Amino acid sequence: MLEIRSHLKKNDTVVILSGKEKGKTGKILKLLPKKNRIIVEKLQFIKRHTRPTNVNPQGGIVEKEGSIHVSNAALLCPRCNVAVRVRIESLDDKSKARICKKCDEAI
Ligand SMILES: [Zn+2]
Repeated sequence: MLEIRSHLKKNDTVVILSGKEKGKTGKILKLLPKKNRIIVEKLQFIKRHTRPTNVNPQGGIVEKEGSIHVSNAALLCPRCNVAVRVRIESLDDKSKARICKKCDEAI
């Protein structure tokens, strides 16, 4: 599968752009780069039926965060407080910074 270049990182706050969670924001818990998907805290809950186990002898339904495709999420600029596009700039120390295209500040 083609890997989309994503500027998202763990613990980033993102805005969901489409789907049933559209407009909501959340923190990235996990990146799934091979699948181009992210798991966002408390969003896109999916219900999983679980088999009875020693810990949970009844079994039942567990709610768990599902993954969201990276193209359906955009970085939230803490300054602008909206989803923004970013550009990548190389810094003097060779690290990269993500610059908000709206307010020109590093995120
Ligand atoms: Zn901004």
